Amino acid sequence: MNLLDGKKCAESLIADIAKKVAGYVDSGLRKPHMTIILVGKHAPSESYVKSKITTSTLAGFDSNLIRFPETVKEAELLAKIQEINEDQTTDGVIVQLPLPKHINQQHIINAISPDKDIDGFHPTNFGRMTLGQKAFRPATAYGICKLLQFYEVPIKGKHCVVIGRSNIVGKPISIMLSNDFDIGNATVTLTHIETPRELLLDETRRGDIVIVAVGIPGFVTEDMVKEGVVLIDVGINRLENGKIVGDVAFDQVAPKCSWITPVPGGVGRMTVTALMINTLVAYQNNFNLA
Ligand code: NAD
Repeated sequence: MNLLDGKKCAESLIADIAKKVAGYVDSGLRKPHMTIILVGKHAPSESYVKSKITTSTLAGFDSNLIRFPETVKEAELLAKIQEINEDQTTDGVIVQLPLPKHINQQHIINAISPDKDIDGFHPTNFGRMTLGQKAFRPATAYGICKLLQFYEVPIKGKHCVVIGRSNIVGKPISIMLSNDFDIGNATVTLTHIETPRELLLDETRRGDIVIVAVGIPGFVTEDMVKEGVVLIDVGINRLENGKIVGDVAFDQVAPKCSWITPVPGGVGRMTVTALMINTLVAYQNNFNLA
């Protein structure tokens, strides 16, 4: 069993970005700039935002965090996004999700300029990505691709089974890995909560690569996968004792895997890294550097 070490991969990719940024700054350009909008005081969001800001500094970027209270009106958020869209000194913007229930998340995502949509959630980017065109790819899915690429895990021609169909993970990774991308060309099965259990097991047991994003601790057990499987655990679940675990019963499943991601230290780190890659691209587009 080999670990797909998200920390190691992230450090290497962030160092590459920092080197590029240093070159741009040496040539007289400003640094790339990322803006994050955070609404309320959701503990996991605070921790994700902190990690994004720390990583952006390591990448050589500037960043700023704009906080709004839980009670903020949708119109106020939309006005702020409009302001950021027009601000030439911001390359990328993230609206940290989830938002409070009184705010329509899709309205907010749709308001972000597709050119600054480093999360890759805007319908324009999602559509372009689906069509195989140049796009900001959704960060978690893109991070998984970069991790597989870093460890040279073969994808082309493999059978990949995705468990979970969320717009931010399951759906985009299934599209990306099946597309004719540099990191793709797999045959993909997308499963979800309405997939009958027997069918789910049939699929996961013959999957060369299994990607799970359901949000249920220990969902993938040893009997669900074949010997030598590549297992990508996207889940981030906080247990009552405060421990963070994934969607895989790691101890029993890991010995069967050729490759497996740890939680923490796997996909989470890669999500943040993919955001930095997208920010760098937004900056390069802004200055016609690409
Ligand atoms: P979600 O809650 O939006 O969706 C869960 C998906 O799981 C649904 O599509 C549902 O159909 C499927 N599902 C639920 N029960 C199932 C079952 N019994 N069989 C098959 N499918 C089933 O999920 P999400 O937002 O994609 O998040 C999933 C997990 O990934 C969570 O733990 C979340 O915290 C984590 N996550 C991690 C990162 C990261 O950077 N590592 C990023 C995003 C989400």
